[in-house]
Amino acid sequence: MSITLDLSRVSNAAPKAPVNLSGLTRAGLRQALIDADVCPPEKAKMRASQVWSWIHHYGVTDFSAMSNVAKDMQARLAEHFTLARPEVVERQVSKDGTRKWLIRTAPGIEIETVYIPDVGRAGALCVSSQVGCTLNCTFCHTGTQKLVRNLTAAEIVAQVQVARDDLEEWPSPKEDRRLSNIVFMGMGEPLYNLDNVSDAIDIISDNEGIALSRRRITVSTSGVVPQLQALGERTAAMLAISLHATNDRLRDVLVPLNKKYPLEQLMAAIRAYPGLSNARRVTFEYVMLKGVNDSPEEARALLKLIEGIPAKINLIPFNPWPGVDYECSDWKTIERFAAILNKAGYASPIRTPRGRDILAACGQLKSESEKVRASALRKAEQAAGAEAA
Ligand code: SF4
Repeated sequence: MSITLDLSRVSNAAPKAPVNLSGLTRAGLRQALIDADVCPPEKAKMRASQVWSWIHHYGVTDFSAMSNVAKDMQARLAEHFTLARPEVVERQVSKDGTRKWLIRTAPGIEIETVYIPDVGRAGALCVSSQVGCTLNCTFCHTGTQKLVRNLTAAEIVAQVQVARDDLEEWPSPKEDRRLSNIVFMGMGEPLYNLDNVSDAIDIISDNEGIALSRRRITVSTSGVVPQLQALGERTAAMLAISLHATNDRLRDVLVPLNKKYPLEQLMAAIRAYPGLSNARRVTFEYVMLKGVNDSPEEARALLKLIEGIPAKINLIPFNPWPGVDYECSDWKTIERFAAILNKAGYASPIRTPRGRDILAACGQLKSESEKVRASALRKAEQAAGAEAA
């Protein structure tokens, strides 16, 4: 007897991972509940509101903790969705109180997230928007890690959740928060991942959840000019520009994206950023590189460049990393640079380096697994370059 197997309906696709509800906007959550038949459409808004509050106000990671949700609905939620946190592969605490987490959200997807106390109103969380980066800013350690992929909104929100787990900030405190500000200054260029960054900001700023004001959320870009307007319109977030040079010749080297969007275009887009005012100033980030961009002439050129823009300037002493050729400017040089800006009426704080001992400072972020490989690669490239010369 022969048996014929009908394989026409066998799928080769791997089983789909359940959707993590933490990464859905309110509208997305409501629709997901309807699509999965968790509740009838006419009750979806109310149910989504309940579930939202458990996820984003109370920070629960288990549907069975949702005490005002009926048991059978909890079961249906658990059948279709997850609230699981990603794995925290490593947690480091600097002697200055800075905390850094290496988070693995999926195989090969590792992100570094840093909490810096006493920054902003109480403490700032520096989140990543991509794994690796395509932009290769020459002073930036992260830029030596090639892009793996954009992070999803769930993976961006997860960084905030992991930090709040560690800081014990659930439910969302009304006052005396330790995590008061969010800066998109970790790994990656946020404007190359605007959809997910924008959804994550909608989630993080929702008043019935984590409830961080959009004015305390800053998105830093190296200058993706065509997306600046959309960033302002979609997120109403504060804008920071990774500037670092006052002329195209130097900026082309430090921030190679400048070759595509030179300073003239960038400054025009900044001037047109929605909502810019004295109360909502743009932040210019300026890394202090010895003998490269730190002269008094450069300070005066900077004033000219930003003339008329409501702005403050963050002066960032360069944080060296293995294999890099730049050095940090002398402290006196940085102070002289700051004094010129201050005298012209611009707040220009010198960012005290934080978390240097755990490689958590600006531009030092990089997935642990990539560090050794990238440094070795860079050295090999340098050696090859020297040989060719
Ligand atoms: S500074 Fe930002 S945009 Fe430039 S390489 Fe580093 S992570 Fe990428």
